[in-house]
Order: sequence, then structure tokens, then C-alpha cells
Amino acid sequence: MSDTLYREILLDHYRSTRHRFEIPDATVREDGRNPLCGDTITVYVKMDGNRIGEISYTGHGCSISMASSSMLCDTLEGLTIQEALEKIAHFKRMLLTDEEIEFEDEDADLEAMSGVKKFPVRIKCALLVWNTVEHILKERQ
Ligand code: ZN
Repeated sequence: MSDTLYREILLDHYRSTRHRFEIPDATVREDGRNPLCGDTITVYVKMDGNRIGEISYTGHGCSISMASSSMLCDTLEGLTIQEALEKIAHFKRMLLTDEEIEFEDEDADLEAMSGVKKFPVRIKCALLVWNTVEHILKERQ
């Protein structure tokens, strides 16, 4: 994937996300903060039994934190807690290790985030929403 394509995918998630709103009857809502950059998010999860029935976010921050939130919602909506935790671990391995990480076609957008590895301070921006949701799900396992 070229740098230009990475940037286009990120900007597309930043500008035209389907998931940036509040779910009034969410089962869980949790705040996340990244003081280094000033990103603040709130994640809303509406559980459907053991599944993530609906997931959304609000907040403000840099384009990376917001694009990553959109990607997370696209990726995790409809999954069971266990499936979602596996996807989260996979995404974190991409950003935190030097392993060669591949994604299934339906999650191909996530690979665009690998571009932030070149800027270590931005990794926290990308991971903020993933860590927040991981915390929510681990408490409900
Ligand atoms: Zn940020």
C-alpha cells in the first residue's frame, strides 16, 4: 500500500465515519484520554447478548485518533466479545511489535494505520480507542 493510499483511507474515516454519535441507551459508555496529544473520546457499546450489537464514539482529537475510532467501530460491530478481543489484540500487535501482521479482506482498512509506526508519539493516538474498548470488553467477559 502506498503512503498516499494510507492517507486517503485515514482521511476518509476521519471525514465520513458512520459511527460518530451517542447511543442514548448504550449498555456501557467509557471515556478515554490521551493527554500527550489532547485526544478525548467516549465509546458507547450496546450489547446484544454476548455480541456488540452497536458501537459508536464521540469526542475530539487529532485525525489519527478519530480515524482509528471509526475503523474500530467498523471492525468490531456485530462480533462476540471473544472475537472482538482477538481483533483488538491483532491490531495492537501491528502497532507494538515488528511482526509482519496481515488482515483479512474485510479488515483491510486497518492496515492503513500501520503508517503511524513511523511516528511513535502518534501510536498512542491510534491505540486510545482500542485500549478503551479492550477494557470495556475484558470487564464483561
Ligand atoms: Zn492524537
